[in-house]
Amino acid sequence: MVGPLRKILLIDDDRMQFRLTQAHFKTFRGERYELEWASTYEEGMEKLLSGLHDACLLDYQLGERNGLQLIQEAVGAGCRTPIVFLTAETAERVDIEAMNAGALDYLVKGEITPRNLERSLRYALKLGETLEALRRLATRDQLTGLLNRREFERILTEEEERSMRFGHSLALVMVDIDHFKQVNDTHGHPVGDVVLREVARRVAGQVRTVDRAVRFGGEELALILVQTNRAGAMDVARRVCAVVSHDPVVVNDTLSLKVTVSAGAAELPRDAKSGPSLLNAADKALYAAKARGRNRAVAYDEI
Ligand code: GH3
Ligand code: MG
Ligand code: MG
Repeated sequence: MVGPLRKILLIDDDRMQFRLTQAHFKTFRGERYELEWASTYEEGMEKLLSGLHDACLLDYQLGERNGLQLIQEAVGAGCRTPIVFLTAETAERVDIEAMNAGALDYLVKGEITPRNLERSLRYALKLGETLEALRRLATRDQLTGLLNRREFERILTEEEERSMRFGHSLALVMVDIDHFKQVNDTHGHPVGDVVLREVARRVAGQVRTVDRAVRFGGEELALILVQTNRAGAMDVARRVCAVVSHDPVVVNDTLSLKVTVSAGAAELPRDAKSGPSLLNAADKALYAAKARGRNRAVAYDEI
């Protein structure tokens, strides 16, 4: 059976290396690979960060700068593409530094054969997939696919620092499903799970890609909204309530359930001065929304 076409990016300032690699690719026996070439640091970085490649072959020598710097910069910018580092025989210890910087494998340029190039790519792709799966397990909640509580703590601390440093506001919206216990009690836990998953999907659909949607715990979700003030957070919080209540959740052919959520919003620095106190403020606003009848959004300054 023919596997999917794998897109490989070669970052190397040497045209000969591109031609050679191209020739090697033609002799590969296993998976189908397509080679794209970037000849400068800048072009390589841009293409790598596009996230469109399944793996990258990266040369150490890149004009003024080198491949190690490129790995560090790319990883710092969130790159997860598996990287195989290409070193010259003379460059001692560079291979180890490359692995420490985040490369998954390395090849010594003078020793590259079609066979070991293919083996190395296959290995890097496989390891990349495994690492991605592990990363997902460590950062995501299994039921909803949203970020987990541990990621929430990490991101909140990170964004708190960023907002202080750059003087941006940071908003937090806490969302809790109304009378969710009744859903479980009446229809059973598996139905509750379906409802929770669908509510999470609708809520997460209301934020920008730079924002984060988290399963904070139980049936409580949190939205971390970067560079957003209280008014912006309230817009999101109201939309969240509206999008959950608008259509019933279809559980199966015979069961659809009306579901609502309540939301509380708070902003850093106006409502709180730190991440933990921002959480506290959004939580208080959420409880006010519950007390005022549920299916509504309340801001911290309204309580
Ligand atoms: P309120 O409107 O005040 O929020 O009422 P509530 O019933 O939603 O609140 P309560 O905290 O009393 O109940 C939350 C329920 O959420 C109880 C718990 O069994 C349920 N729950 C938490 N996590 C899950 C889950 O993963 N799956 C299911 N099915 N239920 C869950
Ligand atoms: Mg609830
Ligand atoms: Mg709750």
